[in-house]
Amino acid sequence: MSLSKTAMISIFTAGAMLSACGNSSTHEAPHDTPLRGQSEAPEKSVSALAKDDKFTYANYDEMHVTHIDLNLDVNFDTQTLDGVATLDIARVKDGVNTLILDTKDLTIKTVEIFAGETSEGDVGYALEAADKVLGQALTIPLTDKTDSVKISYTTSPKAEGLQWLSPEQTAGKKKPYLFSQAQPIHARTMAPLQDTPAVRMTYSATLRVPDGLRPLMSASQGEKDANGEYKFDMPQAIPSYLIAIAVGDIQFKAINDHIGVYAEEYILDASAEEFAETPLMEASNEKFYGPYRWGRYDLIVLPPSFPFGGMENPRLSFMTPTLIAGDKSLTNVVAHELAHSWSGNLVTNSSWRDAWLNEGFTSYVENRVMEDLYGERRAVMEQLLSLQDLKADIASLPRPELTQLKLPTDMAHPDDAFSQVAYVKGQYFLMFLEERFGRAKFDVFLKNYFNDFAFQSITTEDFIKYLHENLHKDNPDALTRAELDEWIYGQGLPDTAKDPQSSAFDEVEIASQAWFEGGNIAPLKTEAGNWSTHEWLHFLNTLPDSLTQVQFEALDEAFSLTGAQNAETAFAWYMQAIKSGYEPAFSDLEDFLLSVGRGKFIYRLYGALSENGKEQWASEVYARARAGYHPIAQRRIDEILAK
Ligand SMILES: [Zn+2]
Repeated sequence: MSLSKTAMISIFTAGAMLSACGNSSTHEAPHDTPLRGQSEAPEKSVSALAKDDKFTYANYDEMHVTHIDLNLDVNFDTQTLDGVATLDIARVKDGVNTLILDTKDLTIKTVEIFAGETSEGDVGYALEAADKVLGQALTIPLTDKTDSVKISYTTSPKAEGLQWLSPEQTAGKKKPYLFSQAQPIHARTMAPLQDTPAVRMTYSATLRVPDGLRPLMSASQGEKDANGEYKFDMPQAIPSYLIAIAVGDIQFKAINDHIGVYAEEYILDASAEEFAETPLMEASNEKFYGPYRWGRYDLIVLPPSFPFGGMENPRLSFMTPTLIAGDKSLTNVVAHELAHSWSGNLVTNSSWRDAWLNEGFTSYVENRVMEDLYGERRAVMEQLLSLQDLKADIASLPRPELTQLKLPTDMAHPDDAFSQVAYVKGQYFLMFLEERFGRAKFDVFLKNYFNDFAFQSITTEDFIKYLHENLHKDNPDALTRAELDEWIYGQGLPDTAKDPQSSAFDEVEIASQAWFEGGNIAPLKTEAGNWSTHEWLHFLNTLPDSLTQVQFEALDEAFSLTGAQNAETAFAWYMQAIKSGYEPAFSDLEDFLLSVGRGKFIYRLYGALSENGKEQWASEVYARARAGYHPIAQRRIDEILAK
């Protein structure tokens, strides 16, 4: 996810310009195109796996769920999904007749087992004691012949993976909205399953939703049939965290024949315009790393409470509306989610201890695509801004072990895997390898890596072995094992990390220095008139502590930073306003916190407020904002403000 990368309402400028890609017939649902690129038989891997994911109860070293079929009523009145999950299973070990599944806050009604089409009857099952993080194991006895299990169940209104929005919480204000977020371990709040990235399964679904609402899933999108049901199919094997659902008053606009945008009407045109260059990003990815293998690629712009920047649900990336800045300046998040179609969705970390395999690779690929399309200068600026975030995370993480790429066995919660370490340290590690082996060789290596491990879940150690056999063995002088180990198992940022020596921000620094030292603001005003969002972010992130309240007022007056429309710029300004106690920004900061639920912004804003003597004010704002935040964000901010 771009979880961390996290992780919304600015004013959305509804761009009225025509899409650059033409063919933008509006508001029509896309029909799913056959898979492009290599044809893929559905993968049903049942090879034995060592059980090294401690965030699952599933006995996936003994049997695998190979397919899950969901048949569900989406019930807004009770805020529940209600229906049946049918799981196909394949044994990895003979003679094992107990299936253990992950559940959290699910009400299980009945469990029926089957041998082929033949029912073997309802069976007694056990729902074990609940753990706060992991939920409850569901233990089901099987016969030697059992090959599928049918579970009738209901979700809870407080399911962590589902956010139910009232009509008032949406932009249109007329219809309710539901969206899911399964990564890392919330799929178990949506259905009983093997909730580990080590296991891949295909899925299908039948959904019934209230009239006037449209359901979408991370699958081929179904049209309403004669029974009023929508059918979905995901024929490619994916881990459970990529199962996703969104239901609302959702419209569609095409960008090209296999790429388009779903959104609420108010932001549909602006979103299609903002993301108009997605086809170029896809072409760039394919040029470097081989074919896009998932058929359609669509984006859905969710309500502002979506806690992340984006989530790479296959065929349908979930996106925050804070990316709609009106100038395409924040579209690296689209490049990021699209890149996950290779790194993460195609080749997947087999446990959250290896999250850098998903996020570090994706951040690296994202930056290569940004360089390819927009030039080295923008790519380097994005590297430098990310590096600032990484250094802040390394300094503030509660345990040094959490600054390792390979995370420790005693990691307390899989959310801990999604700091900037997995993203940016992972990216810089791959930049290091690229530098040592040379770009030409490294590009070929990565393309082969995505192909050789396609539709598999792997560990860090699998990657190291593959690197050795396919690149290092023939180029032994490029790096030492000690250098490699320091990157993967060492803490903090190694000395061998590239320091992007760039003049990209020199002009920003020169122009600002004279004003910092007490000069007139007029020259800065002239210079800053040409700054991109990236230059603004660098300027704001590096404001000196010595800045006076008078200087803050002058800045705000010259550039209208309070209430800035670009969410990233507004966030950077509010962080500085909090640190320096610049009160005139607080009323707009309050509006921002009440309307934006993206974790990247709100976690740090609440954190900064509580560290700078504003706990009381923060708690009062949070008391009003909390109901509008996603359950995932609520849990995090409860913790931040409890400190
Ligand atoms: Zn990501």
